[in-house]
Amino acid sequence: MTGGAIPMITDLPVAIVGAGPVGLTTALALSYYKIPFIIFETNVGLSTETKAGTTLTRTLEIWNRFGAASTILKRAMRVDEIGDIERASNKVRNSIKLHLLKDETRFPFVINLPQYDMEPALSDCLTGSQYGDIQYQHHVTSLKELTDRVELEVETPDGKKTFAASYALACDGGRSTIRDRLGVSVEGRSLPERFSLVDLKVDLDVENPRDYPYLAYFSDAKEWMILVRQPECWRFLYPVFEEQREYTVAKLREKAMHFIGDVKNVEVLGTNLFKIHHRVASKWRHGRVLLLGDAAHLITPMWALGLNTGILDANSVAWRMAWVLRGWADDTLLDAYEREQKPVAERGSGEMAEAARAYMARRAAGVTAMSDHAWGNAYTRTLLGVRLALDGSGDWSMAKPYAEPPAIMLGDRAPDGLLHDSEGCQIRLHDLFGRSFVALYFTDVRRRPEIPENDLPWLRHYAVSRWDAPRNSEIRGRSLLDPGNLVTERYGCAPNSMVLVRPDDHIAAINPIMAGAAEAAYHAALSIPRREAILA
Ligand SMILES: Cc1cc2nc3c(=O)[nH]c(=O)nc-3n(C[C@H](O)[C@H](O)[C@H](O)COP(=O)(O)OP(=O)(O)OC[C@H]3O[C@@H](n4cnc5c(N)ncnc54)[C@H](O)[C@@H]3O)c2cc1C
Repeated sequence: MTGGAIPMITDLPVAIVGAGPVGLTTALALSYYKIPFIIFETNVGLSTETKAGTTLTRTLEIWNRFGAASTILKRAMRVDEIGDIERASNKVRNSIKLHLLKDETRFPFVINLPQYDMEPALSDCLTGSQYGDIQYQHHVTSLKELTDRVELEVETPDGKKTFAASYALACDGGRSTIRDRLGVSVEGRSLPERFSLVDLKVDLDVENPRDYPYLAYFSDAKEWMILVRQPECWRFLYPVFEEQREYTVAKLREKAMHFIGDVKNVEVLGTNLFKIHHRVASKWRHGRVLLLGDAAHLITPMWALGLNTGILDANSVAWRMAWVLRGWADDTLLDAYEREQKPVAERGSGEMAEAARAYMARRAAGVTAMSDHAWGNAYTRTLLGVRLALDGSGDWSMAKPYAEPPAIMLGDRAPDGLLHDSEGCQIRLHDLFGRSFVALYFTDVRRRPEIPENDLPWLRHYAVSRWDAPRNSEIRGRSLLDPGNLVTERYGCAPNSMVLVRPDDHIAAINPIMAGAAEAAYHAALSIPRREAILA
């Protein structure tokens, strides 16, 4: 199924507007699904600005699926503890220990990598893609929607041109031209305080050893601080309150020096002062045009919520595009993108951001996203978007306030875990997901349960059992050994349950095993007519 080309309902590429991290990730995702794309980028190259510095576990999982994690990791600093320190006393409060997630994900850490290094890494992964490339100095000025396509007006070095695309994905950032052209309003507020950062080249490892965590939040009622160890420098970030004048470069250097003490050889590499918003577009889908990333939501970078929320959008949109363009689903599937992700940005990341600000300023009120449980805090802070409201019920969550991993629920990100296939190879559950829906049957394979054949590209079936499937059983080839029942216990569903996982790792159904259960759940998840209609 992964080898041959899958027929598509159109020859037109998908247009991606903007080669920021969200546009680049979306392009990688479309390549993964073998969908032709074209990226239009206004600038002559990628951004050189000092922007996002910390990327979370969930984003690493998504980049891994789309082939970028190892290129990114080679350049990044991995961080296994997020420091949470009281600035006045230097007392550790509630540091987040990420090794607690070692059975939950293949990346029990977050990374520090500045955006000006991250974007080239993502674009390197696109180099040579047979599905599309980046057109620099191509500024999209407007677009027109027709019944079967969208036409984009683009200013290029050779003058104005018109390009046709099947869909347009607006990843054109917070000042999105596309959003404006569509007349989509943005709701929310800008905060009175701004953030000021300074990047310092200083050796705090050998020459002036200091044992600061690579990522540390120093909370303080008067003035909090965030410390980030980037591969080539240390970043210090401070609030600049409403009534306060912005810091000069000299003052920023002095503040950092005051904190790290008397050290040798310090060089200021750069500074940045930026505004903080919580603004979300009122509409994310407009016919053949979808908004993603900062174009859809501007969120505080505190707790790394900005870019990481945008990568969740790319993950949600990519498989939907694949299903629609392959004719496996009608395009109402795209409506669910807004239905599921908008609350995550609006309220989920919004509440997290507010909680982060309250926590950092040591205000008791408003700290909603942290619990007393180390496992839950590690999960909440690094695996964002933990449960989606797949049915539009509003029952979703971005926090997991539990001491122990809880049983899975509808809409959760499916936990990763190690299993063994019938050839003896170790496999990770997340490596099974992505290209199709996957039905997992938690059962006793000695009893020869009926598990459907894997003859459809959009839905595959695997039994999970601590018993090795008898050699003469017909399901041995699609049985996965779960030594000690560890994965089964992590999923925590009733014996003989079928769990349907979507290509974006989210759980679409948990049902008792019975004939046709997975197929019925698959069709319900897409809200489309049954299999016969697709095969016809
Ligand atoms: C100082 C700072 C620190 C931050 N730190 C973090 C952090 O640690 N972690 C985190 O998660 N987030 C952080 N963020 C937020 C993060 O940088 C953004 O969320 C992220 O850049 C959004 O990516 P994007 O691809 O949606 O948009 P952008 O990065 O803004 O990219 C949009 C691209 O579209 C192009 N474009 C715009 N209009 C057009 C057009 N009409 N035609 C063609 N191309 C167009 C632009 O040139 C640009 O390249 C930080 C932000 C700032 C400012």
